[in-house]
Amino acid sequence: KEVTVTNSKTKELIELDKMHYIHPTSAPKDVAENGPGIIFSDGNGIYVNNLEGEPYIDGMSMLWNVNLGHGQEELAEVAKEQMLKIAYSSSFKGFSNEPAIKLAEKLATMAPGDLNAVFFTSGGSESNDTAFKLSRFYWEQKGKSEKRKIISTKNGYHGVTFAAQSATGIPATHEFAGSSVEGFYHATPHLINCELGDKGDPNYEQSIRSLIEKEGADTIAAVIIEPVQGAGGVNIPPEGYLQAVRKLCDEFDILFIADEVICGFGRTGKMFGVDNWDVVPDLMCIAKGITSGYAQLGGVMINTNVREEIVNFEGVLAHGFTYSGHPTACAVALKNIEIMERDGILENVQNMEKELEKGLAYLQDKHDIVRNCRTIGLLSAFELYNPERGEHFDPSVNAASAVVDECFDRKLILRHIGSFRVAIAPPLIINKQEIERMIQVIDESITAFKKKLG
Ligand code: PLP
Repeated sequence: KEVTVTNSKTKELIELDKMHYIHPTSAPKDVAENGPGIIFSDGNGIYVNNLEGEPYIDGMSMLWNVNLGHGQEELAEVAKEQMLKIAYSSSFKGFSNEPAIKLAEKLATMAPGDLNAVFFTSGGSESNDTAFKLSRFYWEQKGKSEKRKIISTKNGYHGVTFAAQSATGIPATHEFAGSSVEGFYHATPHLINCELGDKGDPNYEQSIRSLIEKEGADTIAAVIIEPVQGAGGVNIPPEGYLQAVRKLCDEFDILFIADEVICGFGRTGKMFGVDNWDVVPDLMCIAKGITSGYAQLGGVMINTNVREEIVNFEGVLAHGFTYSGHPTACAVALKNIEIMERDGILENVQNMEKELEKGLAYLQDKHDIVRNCRTIGLLSAFELYNPERGEHFDPSVNAASAVVDECFDRKLILRHIGSFRVAIAPPLIINKQEIERMIQVIDESITAFKKKLG
């Protein structure tokens, strides 16, 4: 989307960006021709400024990760302090560092059930790849090396490394550059009005069961699901869904991996997404909110059973990232968690969830094109319907992206998912007035969109 630019520094940066910067998950032709949509400069709380100092509401916490909002000085200070102590320290060959050890212990106290140990990574995709490898390794250790397949769900998003992308069930992502590797299978979960060629299956339990039976439980290492599908459309599961997956995994002797990359660290109003349903996975992938985006960090939490098999292995675990257990990232994560606990962030999310729900109900009442509002914690979406058609707008209308553009013009950043869904995931420190402002902007944006439609 073209932006009006007045500042000469901005103009220069736009030209340099167009020439030299290949943006992830962006339309390269568009960016190369029209430049970046915005160049961020700084931020405070729920606001981010462009280079010209114009404030935007960060209604998505950037990529669902800046949970404590922008400009948290304590996080910056702890990073500086730790960097001045040591640039970096390796965790290979049994080397260690204090922030990583303390964070591992802290996570063990926070995670549900007996998820008491962690393997650190630098992000979500690395965490999911690690979880797949550890699952296979676990079964090899148990003498069942034929258990290698991974089951995920259609419409799930797990990242973009080869394995994570293979587990992803969103066709455009899954199929990019033939990146899908063997051994990954997609079951049909419950879905709400999915436009990706599948309406979902209310009998999700049977769908996953059938896939397990078809492939053979003795060939399946793990099932991975997001407690709430994020990039697939903010699809909140019905009561019983996660419990059913847990039960299936127990019945067929399959490991259950929860991808908590978005849900973890308070996004859904509980510390972890699975806590909403009292389900304990065998492995739990974390990233994003662990540092509120201030540093790159991820991890896989593992239960006692999986840990036992790993620590009883007498060889070298041939898996690790240079930045596994980076001291600066771990120090930031520890401070991030400390602030979350000290400032009652979970309580704020639970209170603000009600405000967001109220706001969306108002929008749905007022606008006949708004439907299917759903919110869990501060993870939310609504859909755009064409009342005359009695169904979603035709994809050619690009209704969701048009509304998101209208919001952007009014200085609110949201995200469209496909052609009719709009996601909202503001920083967890947001207050009532700020939610009301967001709703007001969405209201005006929908009105403008309707006017343009005629
Ligand atoms: N898993 C989920 C549920 C995600 O939403 C994402 C990213 O959005 C990932 C994994 C991939 O994480 P990363 O982009 O840090 O590799």
